[in-house]
Amino acid sequence: WVAASFTKQQFPLVRLSSDSAAPRTPHFDVIVIGGGHAGTEAATAAARCGSRTLLLTHRVDTIGQMSCNPSFGGIGKGHLMREVDALDGLCSRICDQSGVHYKVLNRRKGPAVWGLRAQIDRKLYKQNMQKEILNTPLLTVQEGAVEDLILTEPEPEHTGKCRVSGVVLVDGSTVYAESVILTTGTFLRGMIVIGLEMHPAGRLGDQPSIGLAQTLEKLGFVVGRLKTGTPPRIAKDSINFSILNKQTPDNPSVPFSFTNETVWIKPEDQLPCYLTHTNPRVDEIVLKNLHLNSHVKETTRGPRYCPSIESKVLRFPNRLHQVWLEPEGMDSDLIYPQGLSMTLPAELQEKMITCIRGLEKAKVIQPGYGVQYDYLDPRQITPSLETHLVQRLFFAGQINGTTGYEEAAAQTESCPVARLECSDMISQVQAILLPQPSVAGTAGMHYNTQGVIAGINASLRVSRKPPFVVSRTEGYIGVLIDDLTTLGTSEPYRMFTSRVEFRLSLRPDNADIRLTLRGYKDAGCVSQQRYERACWMKSSLEEGISVLKSIEFSSSKWKNLIPEVSISTSRSLPVRALDVLKYEEVDMDSLAKAVPEPLKKYTKCRELAERLKIEATYESVLFHQLQEIKGVQQDEALQLPKDIDYLTIRDVSLSHEVREKLHFSRPQTIGAASRIPGVTPAAIINLLRFVKTTQ
Ligand code: FAD
Repeated sequence: WVAASFTKQQFPLVRLSSDSAAPRTPHFDVIVIGGGHAGTEAATAAARCGSRTLLLTHRVDTIGQMSCNPSFGGIGKGHLMREVDALDGLCSRICDQSGVHYKVLNRRKGPAVWGLRAQIDRKLYKQNMQKEILNTPLLTVQEGAVEDLILTEPEPEHTGKCRVSGVVLVDGSTVYAESVILTTGTFLRGMIVIGLEMHPAGRLGDQPSIGLAQTLEKLGFVVGRLKTGTPPRIAKDSINFSILNKQTPDNPSVPFSFTNETVWIKPEDQLPCYLTHTNPRVDEIVLKNLHLNSHVKETTRGPRYCPSIESKVLRFPNRLHQVWLEPEGMDSDLIYPQGLSMTLPAELQEKMITCIRGLEKAKVIQPGYGVQYDYLDPRQITPSLETHLVQRLFFAGQINGTTGYEEAAAQTESCPVARLECSDMISQVQAILLPQPSVAGTAGMHYNTQGVIAGINASLRVSRKPPFVVSRTEGYIGVLIDDLTTLGTSEPYRMFTSRVEFRLSLRPDNADIRLTLRGYKDAGCVSQQRYERACWMKSSLEEGISVLKSIEFSSSKWKNLIPEVSISTSRSLPVRALDVLKYEEVDMDSLAKAVPEPLKKYTKCRELAERLKIEATYESVLFHQLQEIKGVQQDEALQLPKDIDYLTIRDVSLSHEVREKLHFSRPQTIGAASRIPGVTPAAIINLLRFVKTTQ
């Protein structure tokens, strides 16, 4: 079929299938292109949902490769890891088997904003990931470079100009599928930069993807250019750790996955991280050599959140910046200097590094470098990550303009300076044809998160089931995807807890209750065992809370039962056990000692006891938050017609600017429309009236 609105002349690189009856073998339900963070999650999620899935990637031996910092989690991103795990995703389980330093950030704040984080053994992660991928039922893995997409006529009931039905590999062979997911990371027209040297590469040692980038552009996607980068790697035995601040891991370690009670390695066997700082000499070397640095220019100072050392020096002159020295693995001789991403010429990198305390004799084993690549404006995808333009084509990961770095090792307790120096390079969006959007890019976990959601939805699309969309009221996943699809990207976007309106409800501890049950029922991506465990936990928590509410004594009686707690309340009023549990010094063990029956049974499962304490802590605020959540959910329930043409529609009064914004982002609900910058409250009211009259 030749897609209605395209011709071969217009889009010569896009293969248009000429005969619908032609044999379409091999044929899969879902093809995933790319074996990085996003691709591995997407492929396994689609397979878990029951789709025959093909993972097509350049090299099987680079599946699960971490392009830069070997770490996972952090503030906000630890929440995403828990949510991916709640949907039975891979990375949390694999991190529990591959970490070398586990630490919960933000410990001194409430459990709602704790940030689970780990430094990971690069080699072990890759090994464990490949084992998992190669043993996933329904998943076939094949090496190959995808050059092109095969397109057919669109399905009439959906928007989109055409529909993807397969891919063309570089050798000319074709593979067909019902849905295709692109997770090509930094490979689209990737270009590596060190000093003034530039050469085409997706990342060091890997070829870029040119054909696919041209295909997407010719299809009409709005393509931008981003930059990221990586620091040099330093020989471990050339560093003087003895004069630096040492940071030890947590004891006990907190696992990422709900399925694990502990991680694979004891705290005493884990590796420490060390902290040092830059100094004025570092600034001097950066400033003196800007003319030798084509990646960073004085006029393009880079993003707020993930700058290189060069852009930090330009943006915040005369400041000392933190440098975390992090291990790359148990038996690795390399140290990753988090905070020192750079693209100075290789010979100057060692000169700069040896100015830093503890690094005076440091040997650079691999220089830092930058990479520049194409990304696609994420306002071109729906909350299910399917593109507006091409039906059944999904984008996930760094291709969506996401870039950035993990939080560095667990620092909030030991260092007074806010950690903003994640070492990502400048990511100014060039060449974008649209008005500048307001936020951009994401870091680390964001790739896996998008992978799971794209995998699930590509599979649901095959079975013609409704999309699986997580709302802002249900999870950090919902906030991330809503921000990307309604606001777009202009500089690296980091998932902070402050982006989340309902963060007291969306906690790392309760991600299973929020998402595992939905993942099982609405997506089919969760195993029976996990589902049953989450159901048990949910009912045990509900029962426990109601029992705790029902036990009431006077405050003096409580004082006798638990002498260490001083309850401040009017003597005449009885106090519920649930309220006593809110006191810092009380936990389920002390409460059950005071009132063994009926509370003893809730202390048998450690996780249940700890979660009851957290539920008690937030009980009163959650009651109010629930009302607000209901309000937002009402807005989200007001769906906008999919086929509405905002540019020409007559029966609603909207400014030209608002029409253009709605036309580009194609929000699916009134709630999403209201979050698009520049879409005014008046426009929303008019839109609301319009929706009500047309429904
Ligand atoms: P990737 O992990 O890049 O995976 C892309 C996959 O697609 C690869 O397997 C590739 O082989 C495959 N592929 C591409 N094109 C094709 C094709 N045409 N056919 C078949 N297969 C194809 N992110 C951070 O969060 N923290 C960091 O510290 C960090 N530093 C970075 C430094 C550098 C130098 C680079 C290159 C990237 C860095 N990133 C960093 C970003 C990093 O790329 C992401 O963290 C993450 O790897 C992106 O995941 P992804 O799955 O989207 O893409």
